[in-house]
Amino acid sequence: SRTPIIAGNWKMFKTGAEASAFIAEAKAAVAAVSGVEAVVCAPFTALPALVESTRGTAIAVGAQNMHWEANGAFTGEVSGPMLVDLGVKYVILGHSERRQYFAETDETVNKKTKAALSYGLIPIVCVGEKLEEREAGSTKDVCRVQTLGALEGLSAEQVASLVIAYEPIWAIGTGKSSTAADANEVIAYIRSVVAEAFGADAAAKVRIQYGGSVKPENVREYLGASDIDGALVGGASLQPNSYVALVEGA
Ligand code: 13P
Repeated sequence: SRTPIIAGNWKMFKTGAEASAFIAEAKAAVAAVSGVEAVVCAPFTALPALVESTRGTAIAVGAQNMHWEANGAFTGEVSGPMLVDLGVKYVILGHSERRQYFAETDETVNKKTKAALSYGLIPIVCVGEKLEEREAGSTKDVCRVQTLGALEGLSAEQVASLVIAYEPIWAIGTGKSSTAADANEVIAYIRSVVAEAFGADAAAKVRIQYGGSVKPENVREYLGASDIDGALVGGASLQPNSYVALVEGA
């Protein structure tokens, strides 16, 4: 009964004009698909054009980061209320690229997750292990610590309403995807961690995506697995026909 969610993460690609052109090409085909939620997460500067061009379509808009304060002396930052004001619905938090290059920690991801929920944004909280961690056999430990860290202090209802994305770092942009069976095992484990901390109902409701080299050719395998509720897709979400194929495959 969890609606699968396909979210494109455009990372640092596309201007507003490019975003609008993408939506013009993709919107009819996406509207023809039922039972899947379709989202695109764009750079801040493309969000106004994206909100405008997706109005009345089946595609929702997400940001890729936000600050936890509503406003203040935080040069270069963008807040939750600013995203809400634009008409943004989702926000990716704690992506591994932000953890790696921009000093994002479980603590800042937690602050941002709480803030996003308080403003009515739906967080897509990213967790996932590095290659060394996988090789050391600590995949589940890493995912447990990151999941509990991100969700600390939330209510069961809040946890039920958000999205978690399991993205093994070694599978991002490498073409080396996790097998559906391996991804499903980790995602089922993350769900059990949620169950222990927030109860069975929250665990049954929270949507957990897989991310890492998902493509139209492999999306069905992931979505067919018992605990995988969608995909967070980078490279393969940048072209309209590829994005549409992902939504159709879900
Ligand atoms: P790729 O789909 O390009 O591997 O990127 C995955 C990702 O980081 C999505 O957030």
